[in-house]
Amino acid sequence: MQKDRVVLLGTKGGPAIRPGTRMPTSSLVQMDGQTILVDAGLGCTRGLCDAGVALKDLETIVITHLHSDHYLELGPLFHTAWTAGLNHPVRLIGPKGLDQYWEGFLASMEFDISLRLRDEGRPDLKSMAQIEEISEGSTDIGPLRMSVLRNEHPPIEDSFALRFDGAQHSVVISGDTAPIPEMIPFAKGADLLVHEAMLSAGIEALCKRVGNGDDRLRIHLERSHAPADQVGKIAAEAGVKHLALNHLVPCDDPDFTEADWISETRRTYSGNLSIGTDGMEIPLQG
Ligand SMILES: [Zn+2]
Ligand SMILES: [Zn+2]
Repeated sequence: MQKDRVVLLGTKGGPAIRPGTRMPTSSLVQMDGQTILVDAGLGCTRGLCDAGVALKDLETIVITHLHSDHYLELGPLFHTAWTAGLNHPVRLIGPKGLDQYWEGFLASMEFDISLRLRDEGRPDLKSMAQIEEISEGSTDIGPLRMSVLRNEHPPIEDSFALRFDGAQHSVVISGDTAPIPEMIPFAKGADLLVHEAMLSAGIEALCKRVGNGDDRLRIHLERSHAPADQVGKIAAEAGVKHLALNHLVPCDDPDFTEADWISETRRTYSGNLSIGTDGMEIPLQG
């Protein structure tokens, strides 16, 4: 059986990419023989292959919220898996509205999809996505228990953090969120907390570079995302065994390096720490 691990496939916060940047958000969770993709940002298909996952073996996909950097590649991933031999339904768990996206994606590719159905005799793509609306509480994924916590990511209301508990390990993925006290009991004692993070010192420079000339982007970032030192505090209080930062904002400003992320997080957290990079594998041990 595949060893329990998490692979950070894409670690950039936000949808835009530029020469040399990382890819937007997606993470692979493999525990107790289950393979789960959390979020499907641009690049997730390549990321899965690079992590050694055969696309035809996809089983479960969970989308934390409907910002494009978390699901822009969902349709293309399904379609590519289909052409790679996927012929079983995939559980697709996500917020209300995901069914509309799926219908729209299928409609946009109608020419190609119906051609391949006729011409190559492939199975029906539409029914491959078994969509379930995500909600607070918990659900079983094979032998794993997935718990869902509504986080704080205005103006989106349906935005969620996830916790996976298996026979030996537990992993928490924060999703996009401001720091919230509820994350502390939710992440209590986890082997790994993957938390989004923002470097406050880099926000001003970022807004100057890509902003729209007013304060909206800065206000959005500050009320909807989590400064690295506060993430460290959450991890310390939750007593997690390992903290990995992802969804890094900013992550393409040469003035801010890994050392800045480390020193900001170390103000409040002294445990195992990883600053996520695309393709980083985090084995779950012990
Ligand atoms: Zn995001
Ligand atoms: Zn978001």
